[in-house]
Amino acid sequence: MRTELKEALHGSKNMPLWLDRSDRPHTAPCLSARVETELAIVGAGFTGLWAALLAKEAHPDLDVVLIEAGSVGDGASGRNGGCVSTTLTHYQSNRDLGLPEGEPEMATLGRQNAEGFLDDLKRYRMQVDYEPTGYLHVAVQADQIRALQALYELDQKSGTASVLLDREAVQKEVASPAFLAGHWDKQTRLGILHPGKLVDGLREAACKRGVSLYENSPLTQLAAADSGSDILLTSAHGQIRARKVLLATHAYPSLIPQTRCSLMAPIWEYALATEPLSEAQMASIAWSGRQCISGEENFFHYYRLTSDNRIMIGGGVPDFFLSNSGRFIDQDDPASFEGIAFYFFTIFPQLKGLRFSHRWSGAIGASRDHSLHFGQAMNDRVVWVQGYSGQGVTPCRFGARGGLALLGLGETELARLAFVQRRPVHWPPHLLRWLGANVTFSALEKADRNQGKKGLWLKMLDRTGFGIKI
Ligand SMILES: Cc1cc2nc3c(=O)[nH]c(=O)nc-3n(C[C@H](O)[C@H](O)[C@H](O)COP(=O)(O)OP(=O)(O)OC[C@H]3O[C@@H](n4cnc5c(N)ncnc54)[C@H](O)[C@@H]3O)c2cc1C
Repeated sequence: MRTELKEALHGSKNMPLWLDRSDRPHTAPCLSARVETELAIVGAGFTGLWAALLAKEAHPDLDVVLIEAGSVGDGASGRNGGCVSTTLTHYQSNRDLGLPEGEPEMATLGRQNAEGFLDDLKRYRMQVDYEPTGYLHVAVQADQIRALQALYELDQKSGTASVLLDREAVQKEVASPAFLAGHWDKQTRLGILHPGKLVDGLREAACKRGVSLYENSPLTQLAAADSGSDILLTSAHGQIRARKVLLATHAYPSLIPQTRCSLMAPIWEYALATEPLSEAQMASIAWSGRQCISGEENFFHYYRLTSDNRIMIGGGVPDFFLSNSGRFIDQDDPASFEGIAFYFFTIFPQLKGLRFSHRWSGAIGASRDHSLHFGQAMNDRVVWVQGYSGQGVTPCRFGARGGLALLGLGETELARLAFVQRRPVHWPPHLLRWLGANVTFSALEKADRNQGKKGLWLKMLDRTGFGIKI
């Protein structure tokens, strides 16, 4: 089997499928001078790009500079599964997040954000291969069937359109002998898109509105200017003097020294994409609904079709490294890729012989409460947004809106939300975090192999609120 997996992976490119396109825009200049601006946005992933676009939309005369360490979309935004969701965080309920009574429901905020997201795609005519496929959760072990039933019961209560599929019904939807049951969430705002095209679409829309973009310009320092009212952002060859700053650097080390590493735990995920399937191969898997699929394991896999009928698959056991220095580039970990390939052929044994064309990794920024959060520094002239913890395709638009609101450049009512106002919780020191994460990862893996049964360690984490959700 190992040899077959190696063969299937042999010759695959170590780069995200989504960024391997000849129609990508030309590289923007690097910052090589002193520039003044009213708003500087650091990081050109979904968050930074949405923030730049929405800031210009709300204030056409505002001077906006967007600065990126590498190329636009180099971070998680160019590396994800492209699964569009209506949730903002792993928590759906206000109670889970400890929000006070009377606040808008998280589920409502998430739905409204997803609606706005899809409206914006239409308004800007972004060609992102969006397909409203819904989301199919599948059980591949008997213990997971209960979780699907629980999802269905919740949907019944909230009036969400979904169906519970038994073994025969789920295998009719997608011909995998591994599927024992399914829960198909049929909300029209759930679907799949091409993350690379979204990144480029946002970039084009923002630049058309007059945003100045710099690429290949890692910022190394953020400090108050002598006058005290401006912020100086320094890179190797240039400097930006800005009235206000939005940090959209996600899992990367923060430019704010006090929170440099304590708010985010960068967790590495791995992904693969196959070559395009032939008509016969497509017929053999009968995936006509083209849903985004995910398992119910702790370390679940998710998979989807692309517009040219490849299958992109990610997930499995992630990595959390003791040292992150220099790691924010493609991690080439053969064992992780073989693990995903093994899972792939367990789900689709009929595709034996199919090869993978691309393999890549990406960092998920996990926050302590598994939810995106906001922070403010330097008399509130610097705001940061981060902590999506494995979500983000749609939540980043909310993150951008919340960040702009806190800077006084967006929707004032958003800045008043308890969800936006709540402050992040710090992780324990890095060494402890690394030890804890690795013990927890092993325990989660063991539970996945053991019909989901949690051992003492996981039970204790659940009780103390340190459980991991990605
Ligand atoms: C493998 C994988 C699969 C995922 N799948 C999904 C999914 O299916 N659905 C979903 O909703 N979410 C998914 N996510 C999560 C989602 O991709 C992220 O939450 C989201 O892209 C975060 O966007 P961002 O703009 O905040 O960060 P990023 O896209 O990481 O952008 C941050 C940018 O900041 C730049 N930067 C950092 N430091 C500096 C500096 N000092 N100077 C200048 N620039 C800097 C970086 O180069 C980077 O481009 C996935 C993530 C991964 C890794």
